[in-house]
Amino acid sequence: VSVVVLALLAAAPSFSVDPDVGTTADVEREAERHWAALTRLWKKNTGDDVAGPEHIAVRARRDFSPGVNGRSAPGVVQLRPSRDVFTRRQRLALKHELAHQLLLAACPAAANDRLFHEAFAIWTSGELTNWLTKHITLQEARTRLAKGIDDRPSARAAIARLLAEAEAERTLVERMRQCKDGGRALLTVTALTRQVPAVFADADVVLSRHSGAVIAHSGAPALKMPFGSTLKPFVVAAHGPGPDLPVGDTAMWKCGARTQRMKTRDALLASCNGYFLDWAPPATFGPYQPLFDRFDVRPRVVAEAIGLASRLQLSAFELAQAYRVLAEAEPSLMKMLRANRTEGTLAAAGLTVEGATKTGTVRDADSRPRVGWIVFVDDDFVVVMAREGRAPSTFAPQLDTLVRGLKPRGFDVERGHFRPGCELDGIEVSVGKRLVVGRHVPNARWLCLGGPTVNGPGVVDGDRLRVERGTLDDG
Ligand SMILES: [Zn+2]
Repeated sequence: VSVVVLALLAAAPSFSVDPDVGTTADVEREAERHWAALTRLWKKNTGDDVAGPEHIAVRARRDFSPGVNGRSAPGVVQLRPSRDVFTRRQRLALKHELAHQLLLAACPAAANDRLFHEAFAIWTSGELTNWLTKHITLQEARTRLAKGIDDRPSARAAIARLLAEAEAERTLVERMRQCKDGGRALLTVTALTRQVPAVFADADVVLSRHSGAVIAHSGAPALKMPFGSTLKPFVVAAHGPGPDLPVGDTAMWKCGARTQRMKTRDALLASCNGYFLDWAPPATFGPYQPLFDRFDVRPRVVAEAIGLASRLQLSAFELAQAYRVLAEAEPSLMKMLRANRTEGTLAAAGLTVEGATKTGTVRDADSRPRVGWIVFVDDDFVVVMAREGRAPSTFAPQLDTLVRGLKPRGFDVERGHFRPGCELDGIEVSVGKRLVVGRHVPNARWLCLGGPTVNGPGVVDGDRLRVERGTLDDG
């Protein structure tokens, strides 16, 4: 092992930091650490070690234009100086410029591939989330980049927006691999925003709210797809209600507002992106985040939580499971969503079955629907329906038909008492007024993903739930 470590150290450049940069020792340490991280990333994705450069000089420069904090030439990084603290801005700028240095060394043929360089630098420097905080549409991002790709803030925000799309990171990794074979082909905006057609498909899932069992499914219930607006109720459950906000005049606010101000309830029913962006609650799903962690859904910014970017994905089955938990934990929110059928996004869809609903539409860069979602929840069932290439209101009649065919039945678990010490597989959630994950709860209603709802005392033990004495929910 030590031989390998020595070999890697030998391949790393030495750094010299001009005293005018200000925080010499900090900059040097950070440079060494980040160079090691970058070479590990490169090796992991391409299988190749990075050779050179032997030396990188970090120099101070004061005359950058506003918003620009660093610049690179082979073997030389220029940074804005700082008096005596290593600022966050300096740190990000250093990491960004080192990414350029790494690409210059690892893929010299890509020296003129400006989009590849900037996307790689933004992806690896830790600055991505900063640029995503102020949401822009894909269309706006493409318009900006058509005017030129450079290091200014407006271009960086546009590139960050592309990187929030589902296939962007994979495309970037493919571009890294092309460096092996010459690597002269330029990365394009179109390539970064492509959405592989096979990612989308129809799917239906019906879950029993009581037993957690899949009552019916068809299509591709396990296929992960971007989830559109379907998780907005979780944002409200985690952080709401939000403030009453003035209705804005941007495209994000074109959601049927008939008043000057909007409340959380109306924003949820209208699925109003502008409201959620202006409200700007924390990006995570709060107490529901552990649930979404299981599905690999960890939003970095609100725009990702509300589905404005397609990087994060859920399957119809996972979405149904999440709603089963939400329905149990948030009955008043479910009641609110019952109005969606008459005054929300499905108001004109002619849905006749009664229950809480939430829609989601995933659109491509030209605003065509790639997949539409409807989630339906009543006292007995959670239904998730996805249709490729369609907006939700166009297939609501199919939901009507499906739900009418469902009959509450003696739920497919045996009713009766749980034996003491009964164990259920997997980590579970206890739901009372709010969701609780991972602690002893003396008297609770436990909901097991893929398993029954249980009433009784329980404790989470490692990743298992032990229900000490309980009764199965009998619906
Ligand atoms: Zn750059």
